[in-house]
Amino acid sequence: MPRLLIATTNRDKLREVGPLLYGIPFEIVTLAGYASAAAPEETGRTFEENARAKASYYAAATGELAVAEDSGLEIDALGGAPGVLSARWGGADASYPERFALIYDALRAKGALDSPARFVCAVALARNRDILFETRGVVEGRIAPEPKGAGGFGYDPIFFYPPLGRTLAEASDWKSAVSHRGQAFRALRAFLEQPSSGSLVSRSTF
Ligand code: IMP
Repeated sequence: MPRLLIATTNRDKLREVGPLLYGIPFEIVTLAGYASAAAPEETGRTFEENARAKASYYAAATGELAVAEDSGLEIDALGGAPGVLSARWGGADASYPERFALIYDALRAKGALDSPARFVCAVALARNRDILFETRGVVEGRIAPEPKGAGGFGYDPIFFYPPLGRTLAEASDWKSAVSHRGQAFRALRAFLEQPSSGSLVSRSTF
């Protein structure tokens, strides 16, 4: 079976992506087997730029067909922040409760505690330096009055999802059915399951 590298060092993302790609006609491999492929810096201004950079970097570094994603939380009242800086908001070592406090302080100062917000996930598939497929998933919601729930990861406790009437951290069983990552990886799955995706394999063989 051809191989597909899930190019992320983030265990929380890996935990969600595994089931979303379960059963595709590719052997899934992770970066665990490639200790020498150090993570590239994420300098892009958009999720798409970062996803492309990660996918092509890891594809070239490992010789594998590689999929990478870049994701984050956009809060309207904060001009789209934390956005591509979601993983580093308040400093790379800040805890999520510290990040939540920063966000609530900023929203309180603007009188917009329940601001509309969205999670975005850009996915890119690459072989060598070529991008073969790209997609984006978005889930719309708003900032919860206070952090709630123990499931999921990252900003899930402060992301209220109106159709379920709870935060994504309180709805982790449903999360992938509605989430940005669920949407994007289902689109990738559909692409990889097309009969013509076999050409991805033969091109990498010759
Ligand atoms: P990056 O894609 O590695 O730059 O980091 C994405 C960051 O966005 C994560 O570290 C989280 O802080 C946040 N994020 C992305 N997806 C989710 C999600 O599904 N739930 C909560 N936070 C998320």
